[in-house]
Amino acid sequence: MEHQKTVIVIGGGIVGLSCAFFARRAGYRVKVIDPDIASRRASFGNAGILAVCETLPLATPALLRQLPSLLLSRDSPLQIRWRYLPVVIPWLIRFARSSAREPFLRSATALNSVLQTALDAHAELAAACSATELLAPTGWIKAYQSDDAYRSQGDERAELADWGVTMQPLDASDIDALAPGFAGVFAKATLFTDCQQVKSPGEYIARIADGCARQGVEFIRDSARGVVFKDGRLSAVRVSDRPIEGDTFILACGAWSKALAAELGDHVPLDTDRGYHVMLDTGHSTLLRSPLFWHEKSVVFSQLDRGLRMTSSVEFAGLDAPPAYGNIDRTLNAIRSIVPALAELPVEDRWLGFRPSMPDSVPVIGPSAHHPNCFFAFGHGHLGLTLGPQTGRLVAQAIQGRKTDIDLAPFSPSRFTSR
Ligand SMILES: Cc1cc2nc3c(=O)[nH]c(=O)nc-3n(C[C@H](O)[C@H](O)[C@H](O)COP(=O)(O)OP(=O)(O)OC[C@H]3O[C@@H](n4cnc5c(N)ncnc54)[C@H](O)[C@@H]3O)c2cc1C
Repeated sequence: MEHQKTVIVIGGGIVGLSCAFFARRAGYRVKVIDPDIASRRASFGNAGILAVCETLPLATPALLRQLPSLLLSRDSPLQIRWRYLPVVIPWLIRFARSSAREPFLRSATALNSVLQTALDAHAELAAACSATELLAPTGWIKAYQSDDAYRSQGDERAELADWGVTMQPLDASDIDALAPGFAGVFAKATLFTDCQQVKSPGEYIARIADGCARQGVEFIRDSARGVVFKDGRLSAVRVSDRPIEGDTFILACGAWSKALAAELGDHVPLDTDRGYHVMLDTGHSTLLRSPLFWHEKSVVFSQLDRGLRMTSSVEFAGLDAPPAYGNIDRTLNAIRSIVPALAELPVEDRWLGFRPSMPDSVPVIGPSAHHPNCFFAFGHGHLGLTLGPQTGRLVAQAIQGRKTDIDLAPFSPSRFTSR
């Protein structure tokens, strides 16, 4: 059914493209504004894991206890540029508050609800965009060098099991079979069996963009510079030379969404936790059959079509500070001295990306409090690749005024104003 209504999507990462696809499928005329579709943003450079097991939010009492030592160590997986500290303190306070039991459970419930159908949404989107072959049922491994480290995570595994997450313990020989390039390194691991891998996140995004274009989505290669109101109602988005008019708007600029949301009167506590990757050229060898989180080093390895990708954890420094590759380079050097198969692999590429992160780890999916014809779809943090398609499906239901498959109240942009 073709609507006469026009939906304007601002941002063409996995979240914006998914919203565009499902809105178009619902019959709307759809335009996506992005200066750089399928560029080197977060949706391009991530680890490629469809981590449907990650139902627990990041802020936990255990993490908070470790925070002082994490902040003070030069090689810590958590880095803060000290000049950025005053800016990020309010976010960190909210993050700390989110670790209390009640908000923790609220966030876990919300994440659990949206993760349950995340793979189904990927399957639907990928099938329509000729991208199914890029999805692989690999599971994902959390691996430990020592039995003690494995045991130290027992409470987390028990809690995940309570949420219905399926997992399987692996001993050293099982791990070596799944991670031949890392043979002999790990003592114990957990395999999260339901998770999948996108074999090339950049190619996946490119195919989804192509699929959208084939369905009639129009792309405007420009930045949204502001919004236009007519009689108090949002009527257009300003790009460099003109207003782009629409009936419904979807704000999906990832880590860059905060300023445009503020123009609409919605002040959301969005920040960016920056992450790095290094690509190693593995030639034709397969070092890993399933993506792997190395607990002691706090890095993720993924064997992608184009080589082995190592991604690092978290840096708070805002959107404008230049990359600082020192930390990930030092981690890689330390790992090369432990894993002989990595020692000589050439580094093909180094990259910095911007995760759009909310302090409670729950994305923002829902209408602006002041302009109900603008829907927000951002703040997916460490799970944006996993949750992008499901977010698009939910937003498309919501803009049609239909009952959404899951309750969107816990994802509301206003949820922080009452807390
Ligand atoms: C190192 C790393 C590893 C990760 N690993 C995983 C993983 O394994 N699994 C997982 O699920 N998630 C992972 N993530 C998180 C995931 O990549 C992000 O959550 C997700 O890509 C966010 O998608 P997005 O569409 O919201 O944002 P983005 O991909 O950042 O896209 C936002 C888009 O908005 C555009 N834009 C910005 N400003 C404007 C403007 N003014 N006007 C128009 N357009 C604009 C940008 O050009 C960009 O294309 C990882 C992230 C990092 C950094």
